[in-house]
Amino acid sequence: MKVTEHISRAKSTLFSLEILPPLKGQDISSIFNAIEPLMEFKPAFIDVTYHREEYIYKKRENGLLEKVATRKRPGTVGICAAIMNKFQVDAVPHMICGGFTKEETENALIDLNFLGVDNILALRGDAIKSEGMFVPEENGNKYASDLIKQVQDMNKGKYLHDDVENAAPSNFCIGVAAYPEKHFEAPNLKTDLKYLKMKIDLGAEYAVTQMFFDNQKYFDFVDLCRKEGINIPIIPGLKPITSKKQLNILPSIFHIDIPEELVERVNKCSTPEQVKEEGINWCIKQSLELKKKGVPVLHYYSMGKSDVIKKIASAVF
Ligand code: FAD
Repeated sequence: MKVTEHISRAKSTLFSLEILPPLKGQDISSIFNAIEPLMEFKPAFIDVTYHREEYIYKKRENGLLEKVATRKRPGTVGICAAIMNKFQVDAVPHMICGGFTKEETENALIDLNFLGVDNILALRGDAIKSEGMFVPEENGNKYASDLIKQVQDMNKGKYLHDDVENAAPSNFCIGVAAYPEKHFEAPNLKTDLKYLKMKIDLGAEYAVTQMFFDNQKYFDFVDLCRKEGINIPIIPGLKPITSKKQLNILPSIFHIDIPEELVERVNKCSTPEQVKEEGINWCIKQSLELKKKGVPVLHYYSMGKSDVIKKIASAVF
């Protein structure tokens, strides 16, 4: 079922989560074990992230270094099918532009369509770790909006080459990313919103936000979106702090602020367990306020830590 159908049928705020594919070499049981304890909260859907290639340097026999592209967490299509099969819950694959030609994207979309996956989160993806700027593949999509156009073409039965006769249209529901604290490359929030609006005009039906730790930022963002004519559901994405080092890592990776009060609380903790407790309590507080305001879904970035998400979900749902 489409994410938007889940939302329109729901009588109260839904629960959903995001998982990462296992590291290369691990089997599917690590994913099943992470999801199993959360099934009692009836997730409406489960997002599966996509991790593009990185470059590593391998020493050859002659002593020279060879630059090799490798993916640490390969897979999305198979994991989505496995999740849907095991738990009868909708899986939402994240599809990115980076590293894919349009042809490869089409092939992945065809597989997802055959498997009965109804949803896609359409993203641009980031630059390769060792490169400063995002560079699209030759004949690949440059922005999430280009990827949306490609998915929407398939939804109309239009494939890349015009020689497909009587093509069956797909029926993907497309979600996109949104940034209450602005995408880090955007010159300002208004410009960023212009492109968010473009994604919606092209066919995106809902958005999921980057994590935030101050609900006011989300409320202000939603208000601004509505003023700009963006009327789709905007699903808040939440992540609990679980270690002291995340106070610096999260802002540097995700370009978000962490409120002073939360920083002080975490810094006062003398054990890792206390830090986790503070992070969980903060996330519960955020969740309860958002739920009270009637957000459609609370979407948790689980990062494989189902014990933490379980404690939060138990207090909220
Ligand atoms: P876009 O919407 O393409 O925007 C990128 C930048 O370009 C923005 O600054 C925007 O303002 C600007 N822009 C957009 N369109 C245009 C245009 N037509 N012309 C000029 N400028 C434009 N990354 C992964 O690699 N894998 C994942 O699984 C993943 N999941 C995510 C899930 C969520 C909920 C979020 C919020 C992010 C996720 N990301 C993921 C990170 C995301 O890929 C990065 O933030 C990326 O830098 C931008 O992706 P986007 O889809 O927002 O890009």
